Amino acid sequence: MKELPKKIRKIITTKPPGKGGVPPGRAFLGQGFLALIIFLSLVSLYSLVSDSSKAVEEVSLSALAQEITAGNVSAITIVGDKLEITFLDGKEKISKKEAGTALTTTFKNYNISPEALATINIEVKNDRGFLYWFASLAPIILPIAFIVFFLWFLSRQVKGAGMQAFSFGQSKARLISPDDKNQRVTFKDVAGCREAKEELREIVDFLKNPKKFLDIGARIPKGILLMGAPGTGKTLLARAVAGEAGVSFFSISGSEFVEMFVGVGASRVRDLFDLAKKAAPAIIFVDEIDAVGRVRGTGVGGGNDEREQTLNQILVELDGFEPNEKVIVMAATNRPDVLDPALLRPGRFDRRVTLDLPDRRDREEILLIHARQKPFAEDANLALIAERTPGFSGADLYSLMNEAAILAARENRTKVSQFDLIRSIEKVMLGPERKSHILSQKEKELTAFHEAGHAIVASVLPYADPVHKISIISRGRVAGYVLKLPLEDRRLQSKKEFLDDIAVALGGYVVEKTIFHDLTTGPSNDLQVSTALARDMVTKYGMSEKMGPIALEGAGGKPLFGLGVGDKEYSERVGALIDAEVAKIMNEAMKKVEKIIKEHRKALDTIATRLIEVETIEQKEFEEILITHGIVPKKKKDIEHQV
Ligand code: ADP
Ligand code: MG
Ligand code: ZN
Repeated sequence: MKELPKKIRKIITTKPPGKGGVPPGRAFLGQGFLALIIFLSLVSLYSLVSDSSKAVEEVSLSALAQEITAGNVSAITIVGDKLEITFLDGKEKISKKEAGTALTTTFKNYNISPEALATINIEVKNDRGFLYWFASLAPIILPIAFIVFFLWFLSRQVKGAGMQAFSFGQSKARLISPDDKNQRVTFKDVAGCREAKEELREIVDFLKNPKKFLDIGARIPKGILLMGAPGTGKTLLARAVAGEAGVSFFSISGSEFVEMFVGVGASRVRDLFDLAKKAAPAIIFVDEIDAVGRVRGTGVGGGNDEREQTLNQILVELDGFEPNEKVIVMAATNRPDVLDPALLRPGRFDRRVTLDLPDRRDREEILLIHARQKPFAEDANLALIAERTPGFSGADLYSLMNEAAILAARENRTKVSQFDLIRSIEKVMLGPERKSHILSQKEKELTAFHEAGHAIVASVLPYADPVHKISIISRGRVAGYVLKLPLEDRRLQSKKEFLDDIAVALGGYVVEKTIFHDLTTGPSNDLQVSTALARDMVTKYGMSEKMGPIALEGAGGKPLFGLGVGDKEYSERVGALIDAEVAKIMNEAMKKVEKIIKEHRKALDTIATRLIEVETIEQKEFEEILITHGIVPKKKKDIEHQV
């Protein structure tokens, strides 16, 4: 394995500040303290040395007075209270005077004649003792010490945010090194996505064996954009490419580039690319790139200079490195429609890989992958679960498996059973059951009829999905629900299906209106969803006779071509026409539902009464009720004939 360059090795090995090592504030204090101690000991050492050089005999003051009178003393040096005496014969001795009195006064008290004193050379020197040094330096040291302490204190206060200022421009990329066996993900861990894997195998090949490609003059794409709904495994697949190729994987999220200060994002991009080049071959993965890669200059989401600079820097870096640098940039988004066209042009993210929601076979494979470390009871049937989970993403399936294991563990079983898995489907779809949420008798009745209304309409209309379960136990935010599952995976939806879907959604509304002669807030979500669907039919799919084959809005529900919010491309007149068409679709659907409810009132009452009694009706019982009332339940074959 290639040695990693130093800077990178550092990221891998150093502990984050604050956990190991000495935090910056503490280190600072330590150094200040050390300097002070060294200084003080130097000072005291000096005064010690200067003292000890005169380790000489001491005489009393009275003895000194006698010597002076006798004329034996030649000189006296006064240092503070100390007297250093030099005798005529060259001997040196020391003595002490009373503190605070002048020596001449003292001598006068000892009756020494002025003539005797006149022969002595008296010299006054400065005190050189520790206290003297300290006293004279204290006015300088104390303020410095105070400032040092103050700075240290401040630095502690702002350590969280302020110290970060020094590492601002560095990228916050997380690195998964190829030697890291625990985090290694390969294509084996990604189920389904066959086309995507096929496409990416080429990249893996290049990273493993670049010479083969470079020798023949092939230009390998620098940028690969993974597109797909949330949870379809974009992040997972990017990691798998790195894992397969055995190269370093730098991952960062688009939002991590953006900080409060302009220029930081750009500098992080630079830093990230530098790191990756040093670690080459490597993959840089920018997750959720739409956070920085939105169309520039629209003013949508607050026209943000910082974001644009960051994006520009990404473009510059993408252009700036050569194919032989063996760095490949991958990016992921679930909003490819909002990306800046500059990102997508050839030479940048020109390789686009789409990840679809898994189909039945893929779902089973994904379930198998996540079933690896879980013990299952004999009755567990993953194929059946895969069949009952159309529209689930990989992340949903992962969550389903996990919920099932949690359910089994909560009930103190050691194996996950089929029942756990089935209950988890609903939990993932609709949120946990809220058994404690007790409905009043009136509410219960209303909810039962409302849900029965949905169910009857769904069973009668030919293009609606068949009912799997009806329940009036509240879950998440809904009071009751009808679980409908398509008979098979669909990629395309037809106008007839849309119309039936709208009718099914209105089932609850119509029941409340015609049977209870009142309306509650219950159907408000039904109305929102169905109206939005009707509007999409008119403005996006060209499914209205009057409007004709015109798409007035882009896929994201925003007007096309990155116009600002609220900018419409169509006139007020067309706007009014759209509203009229939507209203027409909704009203026709309501008429249709009213007719169905009237016709099948008996079946509706039976289902509602049964619901109030048992709260949940499964598919089998529901279909039996339908048959006794002369409605034929849908079977797989029927649908195939109809479409
Ligand atoms: P995305 O980045 O597309 O939103 P992720 O890659 O983060 O989705 O997927 C989330 C989780 O879902 C993954 O960690 C994995 O456990 C599971 N998952 C998604 N797709 C697949 C797949 N095709 N095969 C296996 N697991 C998957
Ligand atoms: Mg992701
Ligand atoms: Zn409803």
